[in-house]
Amino acid sequence: MSFTVAIAEVKQETNTSAPPTTLKDFEDFHLFYGDQIKTVLGDVNSEIAGFYEVLSKEDVEIVPIIATFAVSGGPVNTNSFEYLVSYLTENLSKIERLDGLLIALHGALVTDHFHDGDSELLRRVREVVGTDIPISVTMDLHGNITKSKVELATTISGFHTCPHVDLKETGARAAKLLMGVLKKEINPRMEFVKIPLVVPASNHIDFEPGTYKEVLDFALSKVANQILDLSLFTVQPWLDIEELGWAVVVIANNSREEAAATAKIIASNIWQKRELLSFTELLDPGEAIALALNQESGPIVLSDLADGTMAGSPGDSPVVLRAAIEIAPKKKVFISICDPEFVKKAEAIGSGETIASEIGATWGRNFYQPLKISGQIISITNAEFTFTQKSYLGMKMQMGMTALIKISNIYLVVTSNPATTTDPAYYAAVGLDVLEAQVVVVKTHAGFRDGYRNIAKGFYLLNTPGMSSDDIKNLPYKNIERPKYPWDAKMNWKI
Ligand SMILES: [Zn+2]
Repeated sequence: MSFTVAIAEVKQETNTSAPPTTLKDFEDFHLFYGDQIKTVLGDVNSEIAGFYEVLSKEDVEIVPIIATFAVSGGPVNTNSFEYLVSYLTENLSKIERLDGLLIALHGALVTDHFHDGDSELLRRVREVVGTDIPISVTMDLHGNITKSKVELATTISGFHTCPHVDLKETGARAAKLLMGVLKKEINPRMEFVKIPLVVPASNHIDFEPGTYKEVLDFALSKVANQILDLSLFTVQPWLDIEELGWAVVVIANNSREEAAATAKIIASNIWQKRELLSFTELLDPGEAIALALNQESGPIVLSDLADGTMAGSPGDSPVVLRAAIEIAPKKKVFISICDPEFVKKAEAIGSGETIASEIGATWGRNFYQPLKISGQIISITNAEFTFTQKSYLGMKMQMGMTALIKISNIYLVVTSNPATTTDPAYYAAVGLDVLEAQVVVVKTHAGFRDGYRNIAKGFYLLNTPGMSSDDIKNLPYKNIERPKYPWDAKMNWKI
């Protein structure tokens, strides 16, 4: 028997302190329609590729509708959200006999109007396809799981890894669950436990031994017999919304009771390790640069995670740049910043000339101020790169018009878009080879552990101000439900 399965992706990770996300931000990373989707995402490390891998071996007519992904940023504005959701629902309604839907969401999408944008999207999809059609969803490990998400989706499968290298595998897990339902081989029952816990994002890593890896391995040991799939959701910490917190989602065959019991065992293990999960070691930027310059060989990667562009921050902090200029390094230091107005000024002046201007803090003035710099304009290009790291391997990233500025031994890449810096291809896009640098500054919590894993001689996490700081206890949340760890550290929680 043949089936008709629609596939889609609508992904954005919101940081509620960051400037609004618009349709341009989706276009700048990717926004594809219909048959274009397989061509551009079918062979890269994406959930969509995992959907195709499974579905193409089955007797299925695949209907690709939309695939879009914005770099993390502020709440999605209403017009953009309405456009994307309407495009999806209108095209779903045109399918004569739809049997199932596979959709890649982030799970932490907030809009101007909806604190749980992913649920709102699923609710509108349900209005069109009805309650009987199975919908299998993938989500990012940093998704914020809510009751309505679990009610609206038939199955939810999250990434297990961080940095996220299992995008395709997660897509394949979701597609296998959907095919199992369509072929009546399984009857998935999904339950979740919400944990009143938020921990620093730099600790959600499974690349190295540590507490997250321990709780992940413990959870995955439960996938056997009737437990079909399970996911931990460590959540994006920078969502000032009521339901913020970790979650465990378990899908069992035929049995809600078994799913719920397993979720409780896993959640209890995580709760017991909450203190260890929260421990981070951050260095002041000046101290870290000096330490890195003293190492025999480089590159040493320093992470300005509080300005992390994959965590919604605008990438416009000059804090580390200021520290580097004060040190006047004798070896090469690569630094990035996003400042479209500075790039325009550099374009007007021209390559080879000197630019003296303020830079940075276009959006982040609650956390840091612009910095006056003077340097030589090496080049101005419309830069882009293709990911070489496993996470997002093969996808393209647009940096926009980009100026390369030299301030003695500091090579400053100034982009117009808040591009992700996790991959050495970012610096290569403007002709810089990270192997020639002693210090490379990136703006990410975990992604650099993938991008620089065979390159970096060491990593330091920096204690800097910004919208995606790991010092979550001191960020100005107003709306989150209490009590919650770490704010109410002595709280008792019974599942
Ligand atoms: Zn994530």
